[in-house]
Amino acid sequence: MELLKQRILKDGTVKPGNVLKVDSFLNHQMDIPLINEIGKEFKRRFADKEITKILTIEASGIGIACITAQYFNVPVVFAKKSHSINLDGEMYMTTVESFTHKNVSNVILAKRYLTSDDHVLLIDDFLANGCALLGLIDIVKEAGATVEGAGIVIEKGFQSGGQTIRDMGIQLESLAIIDSMDDTTVTFR
Ligand code: 5GP
Repeated sequence: MELLKQRILKDGTVKPGNVLKVDSFLNHQMDIPLINEIGKEFKRRFADKEITKILTIEASGIGIACITAQYFNVPVVFAKKSHSINLDGEMYMTTVESFTHKNVSNVILAKRYLTSDDHVLLIDDFLANGCALLGLIDIVKEAGATVEGAGIVIEKGFQSGGQTIRDMGIQLESLAIIDSMDDTTVTFR
């Protein structure tokens, strides 16, 4: 998606540890007209899928998922990072290692919001090693629901997540795939 790539080149900054900061337009301050275009593009790429629910993970995926959901006319449900382990059977639970914070969180979702009838589109801001998406896929499997695809705003193609998800046979659509980045240059696939 050319508009997005140009914006990354203009406003993105590369931080140590292979972290791309896009705080000025995507995950701190949010440029709504741009995210609207992102939502439309996800709809275009998954136009042939009967999606019933969009699933993301808190926090930075939520806003993008909500705007995208307006084009699919479906609810958004987000997996919550939880400090306590809920053992009452009402929650799906998995663990996710955070790429940016390097900690492992329990991630939970109330069972009543995802059932075996659901056809799910996963949405997130970044794909790096794939831990966040794999956690969401775990939850969908636990629910007996169907993963119809995954929409990612920025995939870091030099990390392993994209390969892992594509090898699982999941339709993965990343709107910008970064091939390499350093202090001065970002290149796209
Ligand atoms: P993964 O689980 O695929 O290793 O990493 C994806 C998650 O880590 C995303 O939900 C995103 O919040 C965060 N993340 C990974 N790489 C980056 C990055 O370069 N910049 C930012 N801002 N977040 C990232």
